[in-house]
Amino acid sequence: MRWVRRFSKLFAVLAVTLLLFVITGASDTMVFYARIIKLYTQEPHTKIAMPFAEVKKKEIADTWQAPRGTDRKHEGQDIFAPRGTPVLSATSGYIYKIGENNLGGQTVSVISKGGRIYYYAHLDSYANGIEVGDRVTTRTVLGYVGTTGNAQGTPPHLHFGIYSFSGAINPLPLLTDRVTPTVTKKQTPIHRSHRLVL
Ligand SMILES: [Zn+2]
Repeated sequence: MRWVRRFSKLFAVLAVTLLLFVITGASDTMVFYARIIKLYTQEPHTKIAMPFAEVKKKEIADTWQAPRGTDRKHEGQDIFAPRGTPVLSATSGYIYKIGENNLGGQTVSVISKGGRIYYYAHLDSYANGIEVGDRVTTRTVLGYVGTTGNAQGTPPHLHFGIYSFSGAINPLPLLTDRVTPTVTKKQTPIHRSHRLVL
């Protein structure tokens, strides 16, 4: 029967396509797209974590929309920290892009809820082994503070930007300080021996 032959042909094409996806790793790409589609359906974060463990929100001088040259306004916030300080993801999500550009230098972009893109720029270097598609949490190190791109000659800082569908939005109102772990006192030898006795 003709339709059976047509059906089996279609099935064979599907099977081969699926096999190719698995072999070429395109299935990973499809999984990544599926994850991104899911993110688009979620409400964007109303609170995000400071990209540095030690820097507090009040230490940020608000430079949102500050003039940069004659034709540009600052589409983000600059957060200063010593060169090499680990940059932590402000949100959960997935690595969307890792790349270099003239203004940002070495940059990492993370896609998160609502399809928002969180942009980390002027990185000295990237975190070891990070790849596009990797899942990140607010504990994930993305890279290290530097002066790449147009930050050359300035004190090391992170340029942090957020992009929604309508364009750049100010990260400052969303940022919240990280809870710094309470300093635990080192155990004295007496405690240690006591524990050994127990
Ligand atoms: Zn900046």
